[in-house]
Amino acid sequence: MQEVKGIYPYLGQAKRVVITMHQKPDGDAMGSALALFHFLKSLGHDAVVISPTNWANFLNWMPACNEVIDFEKKNDIAKQLVNGADIIFCLDFNIMHRTKHMEHILLAAGCIKVLIDHHQQPQEEAFTYGISDVNKSSTCEMVYDFIVNSPYAANLNLNMATCIYTGIMTDTGSFRFASTTASVHRAVAHLKDLGLNHSVIHDNIYDNMSENRLHFLGNALLNRLEVLYEFNTALMVIPKRDLLKYEIKTGDTEGLVNFLLTIEGMKLGALLIDRDEERKWSFRSKGDFDVNIFARQHFEGGGHKNAAGGRSDDGIEENVKKLKSVLEQYENQLQ
Ligand code: 5GP
Ligand code: MN
Repeated sequence: MQEVKGIYPYLGQAKRVVITMHQKPDGDAMGSALALFHFLKSLGHDAVVISPTNWANFLNWMPACNEVIDFEKKNDIAKQLVNGADIIFCLDFNIMHRTKHMEHILLAAGCIKVLIDHHQQPQEEAFTYGISDVNKSSTCEMVYDFIVNSPYAANLNLNMATCIYTGIMTDTGSFRFASTTASVHRAVAHLKDLGLNHSVIHDNIYDNMSENRLHFLGNALLNRLEVLYEFNTALMVIPKRDLLKYEIKTGDTEGLVNFLLTIEGMKLGALLIDRDEERKWSFRSKGDFDVNIFARQHFEGGGHKNAAGGRSDDGIEENVKKLKSVLEQYENQLQ
């Protein structure tokens, strides 16, 4: 993988460009993809955003989100676009299997592939140009850098600012995580100068719950939480029947895992959800406990030091049993 600035010379002539991100895109994945989309459009490129799967409703206000193609729903069109692309931008993931059913078509595509991402251990050989920086708060911050360091920095506009802010806000836990550097605040100040209305974005993302979702949350906190004090770990397990009962949709479980670390003294939060096709883990930690390594070693996953995910084909009970037995190895680290 060569330095990302190697792609700048290509931006001067119109190209067919596909932008994609990880499956079930979150605010950072959708925000970075749409920000880049607006930027490339402003340069006259024939750009399109393809999401590997559907996404949460709370992203559906974002500028141009109605133009995003869902690979699972519009498979033929999406495949044609990938196969016809001159450049594919891969945002907010760094290993192709995070794009689910798009993995093989992305790997097979012979065009230029560009990575912009902040997760650990990138699959560098899969990309022509790129930047991978685990010290960045968000991929949105990196797209901001990509735009302002380009020869077209003056193209940065309010639509791009809105999309960029969304991902920075969601990936920094609204500017509270350690990744929230002075550069993040400087970038946001620049976005404010462009006319950014940040409080509307906060309302759109966070104050949009259905009554059902609040009941689901209440039930989860009351009935699905187990605190393993000997490991300073809070565990929450959501069975499929809860998802059905409260009509939980993509994105409705977002933020649930963060409640686990609000219990005093907790070092690890582990959330397990029984999804249709797999059991999905979300891990959060405080301090030095590295959930990227933990998820990679035990639950087919990865992510960041303090926020990672994993998966399993086994049932709920086997997963809980496995977690509890694996935790024994980490008893000291979790004190
Ligand atoms: P979340 O718990 O919010 O789904 O994910 C937390 C972080 O871990 C995100 O940065 C996400 O990209 C990453 N992540 C989540 N699930 C997986 C997974 O199955 N594999 C890998 N490599 N990363 C994951
Ligand atoms: Mn991200």
